[in-house]
Order: sequence, then structure tokens, then C-alpha cells
Amino acid sequence: MTSPHLSERAQQEAAESTSLLPLAQATHLRGCPLCQSRVATYRHLLTAVAHQAHPTFAFDLSASVLAQLPRAKPGFPWVLAGVATLVLGVVISFLALFGSLLTPIFYSLSTGLGAGLLTVAGLFVAGQCLELLAQHRRQMRQLAFS
Ligand SMILES: [Zn+2]
Repeated sequence: MTSPHLSERAQQEAAESTSLLPLAQATHLRGCPLCQSRVATYRHLLTAVAHQAHPTFAFDLSASVLAQLPRAKPGFPWVLAGVATLVLGVVISFLALFGSLLTPIFYSLSTGLGAGLLTVAGLFVAGQCLELLAQHRRQMRQLAFS
């Protein structure tokens, strides 16, 4: 037993596996009760660390994060629907009151121009509706967590 005692690093390696040690240190370990005791202490420490429970927070982390996020699913846009209904009601009332005055004007215009105006108006409204729908879907996609 002429070789010096194992270093701290060698003791820790021996605690994991004695096959990690060079031959001279392994030979010393077999004959030295002090080094065997230290290696046993490291083995006990490694076992205790391996079986330690995972750390947990003293508070509910998920609930704290979710509380700071915007509401997951905004409801139907009732204000927008109300404004749209009001505007539609005004337009229908206008047409009901003054439609008889507008009819001769439309009859005097060429049918091609009227059809063109109606087509453009229809495409404009359809485009706006599609844009609103696409915007709503983008917002819903941003709020999806999975
Ligand atoms: Zn020793």
C-alpha cells in the first residue's frame, strides 16, 4: 500500500463504478479501508440524490401563467353584429321609404351598368366577410395552446 489515497475525483468515479479507476488506484482501493469508507459515502450520496423527489413549486405555476394570458376563447362579437344589424336596418328602411323613387332611376340606367354595380357591391361585401372570417380564425389560432 505504497500508492497515495484516492483523490476526491477518483473516489467519486469509484462510487459510480470501480471499473473507471486505473489499475493502481483500483488495487489501492481494495486494500485501503479509509478509501473504501469514502467511496461508500459517495455511493450513499449518489443513491440518495438519485432517489430524491423532483422539486416542486409551493404554488400552482400553471394557474399563475394562465391567469396572465388573455382569455382563451373570446365570445361572439356581439357589438359588431349589433352595429351590422343596425346598419342593415337603416338600409332596409331607406329602401322601403325611398325605393319607389329609386326604381325609375335604376330603370333609366342601362342594365349592364346596374348589373356591374351589383356585382361590384356583392364582391366587396363578400370580400369583407371573408377578411373578417380570416381575421377571426387567425386570432383563434393564436389562442390555441396545443
Ligand atoms: Zn486509501
